[in-house]
Amino acid sequence: MAKKQFKAESKRLLDLMINSIYTQKEIFLRELISNASDAIDKIYYKALTDDRLTFNKDDYYIKIIPDKTNRTLTISDTGIGMTEEELENHLGIIAKSGSLAFKQENEARDGHNIIGQFGVGFYSAFMVADVVTVMTKALGSDQAYKWESAGSDGYTITPCEKATVGTDIILKIKGNTEDERYDEYLEEYRLRSIVKKYSDFIRYPIKMDVKRTKLKEGTDNEYEEVVEEQILNSMVPIWRKNKNELTDQDYENFYIEKRYGFDKPLKHIHISAEGNIVYRAILYIPEKTPFDYYTKEYEKGLELYSNGVLIMDKCADLLPDYFSFVKGMVDSEDLSLNISREMLQHDRQLKLIAKNINSKIKSQLQSMLKDERDKYETFYKAFGRQLKYGVYSDYGANKETLQDLLMFYSSKEKKLVTLDEYVSRMPEGQKYIYYATGESIERIDKLPQTELVADKGYEILYFTDDIDEFAIKMLMKYKDKEFKSVSSGDLGIEADDKEKESDANESEHKDLFESMKTILADKVTSVKASKRLKSHPVCLSTEGEVTIEMEKVLKAMPG
Ligand code: ADP
Ligand code: MG
Repeated sequence: MAKKQFKAESKRLLDLMINSIYTQKEIFLRELISNASDAIDKIYYKALTDDRLTFNKDDYYIKIIPDKTNRTLTISDTGIGMTEEELENHLGIIAKSGSLAFKQENEARDGHNIIGQFGVGFYSAFMVADVVTVMTKALGSDQAYKWESAGSDGYTITPCEKATVGTDIILKIKGNTEDERYDEYLEEYRLRSIVKKYSDFIRYPIKMDVKRTKLKEGTDNEYEEVVEEQILNSMVPIWRKNKNELTDQDYENFYIEKRYGFDKPLKHIHISAEGNIVYRAILYIPEKTPFDYYTKEYEKGLELYSNGVLIMDKCADLLPDYFSFVKGMVDSEDLSLNISREMLQHDRQLKLIAKNINSKIKSQLQSMLKDERDKYETFYKAFGRQLKYGVYSDYGANKETLQDLLMFYSSKEKKLVTLDEYVSRMPEGQKYIYYATGESIERIDKLPQTELVADKGYEILYFTDDIDEFAIKMLMKYKDKEFKSVSSGDLGIEADDKEKESDANESEHKDLFESMKTILADKVTSVKASKRLKSHPVCLSTEGEVTIEMEKVLKAMPG
C-alpha cells in the first residue's frame, strides 16, 4: 500500500512554529542577517574550492535599507543567491534547511561556519511583515527570480530583473492595526541596536545608510544633512582574538560595553577550548556584589552565542548556583541558532561546556587565592557567602569543590584564613578546629567561651555569617579534623588542675546551683561549674549538635 503524506495546514503550522520558537519579534532581523551571512559563507567556500572564482572580501557585505515611505525593510546580501529550484525547495518547504543540506554535502571538507540548519529562521519575517519578497540571483546563473508570499496563501515564483549575484529580502512591514504596527523596524536607531545586540560579530560588514548632520565644508557654523554609509557591526569578536593580542584594558572595555556590571572586573578568564568540546568563552569575576545579588531578583547566567550570533541573554544552565556571580559569554559552533530553552536544557554539548566552565572558574579562584591574596579577599568579601551557601545546599554535594575556597576570620591572624592554613599550623595535641559564633568580631572577642581555647594557644575561627555554621556542619570535617564550637559542652581539651578545682566547686556549691536552676526553670537544662572560664563569671553552653547561634537562625527562619 502506498503511504500517504500528511498535509500540514501551512498557515497554522507557520503561526504555531513562529510563535512557539520565538519570544521576541526583533529576532527576525537576526535570522535574516544570519541567512545572509550563511549565503556569503557559501560563496566564499565555493571560491576556496573553485579556481575560476576569486573571493574579494570587500565585495561581500550585507546591507539594511529601511524605507519609511513605502514601509519596507530590505536586507540585501552579496551571497551565493538561489536558483529557481532552490527557491522552491528552501523557501517553499517549511523546516527544510538548505544550509543543513549544504553542510552535509560538504561534510568532508572544512572551511565554512554556517549558522542555519534548522530551517525555520526565514519565516520569522512574517512576525513583522505582511508580505515578504525575495529577489535573488544565483552564482553562475543569468536569470534572477522573485519569490513572494503573504504567509498564509502560499507563494509565487516569477522571473525578475536583478543585476548582481545575491539576494534581497524585502519585508512589507505590518502597519494595519494599532497592535500590529511595527514602525520601529523602520527606525535607524532601532535597527542599529538590534544589529549590535544580536549580530555584532557577524564576520561580514552589515551596512546601512544613515543621516548625519555635519559641519558644512568651508564654514565653521553651518550644518548640513548628509547620508553616510556606516558599518553597524564590529565583526571580529574579542573572544575570537588571541589572548596575547589583548590587554587587560580590552577585557575591561568589553565588560563595560556589555554592561555585565557597573564595577570593574576583578579577574577575567579567556577560554578557547579545543578537542572534545569546542567553545570560546570570556568570563569575569566582578569586584563588587551587585545590589540585587542576594535577592530573588538576581538572575544568574552567561550570554550564549552560536557561532558569533547571540541566542540567549542569560543561559542559567551554564553556571552552578555557587558561581552565580560570574558574568560573561560563551560561543559554541555546535549549537543550533533557533534552539529553544527546553531543548537547551537537554543539550549534551551544553552540559559538557558547563562542566568545563565550572572547573575553569574553580581553578582560577584557586590560583587567585594562591598568588593574589588581596584580590582573593576582595572577591571573598563580595561573594564568599555564596560559596558557603554552595557548601550547604544540595546536601553538601559540592563540598569537595568548594571547601578549599572558604575563608574565615581568625583569632590568631586577625584576618581571613583558609581551612588549610588553620589545619596546617595546629599545634600538636589540638584535636579540633575551633570556632566561635556571634554577630560581629568584636562581640565574639568578648565571649567568655573563647577564653579557655584561646588560653591553650589554639586558633579560633570567627563565624559572623548566619550561614557559616550550617556550612561547616555540612563539611563535618576538614582534613580529618572535626569542627568544634567553643560553646559546646565537651571541648576536647585535656583536663588539668582546673578539672579538680571545678569538681570540688561542684559539690561545695551544690545548693547554690540547684536554686539557680529552680529560678531559671525551663530556660536552661542544667547549671554546672565550668572548666573553661578564666576572667568571666558565667557563660552559656550547649549540649548536642545545635548551637545557640544556629538555634537563633532557625528560630528566625520563616515557617
Ligand atoms: P536555516 O537557515 O536554518 O537553514 P532558514 O529558514 O533561515 O533556515 O532558511 C532556509 C534556507 O533558505 C536556507 O538554508 C538557505 O538555503 C535559504 N536561504 C535563506 N536566505 C537566504 C539568502 N539570503 N541567500 C541564500 N539562501 C538563503
Ligand atoms: Mg537561517
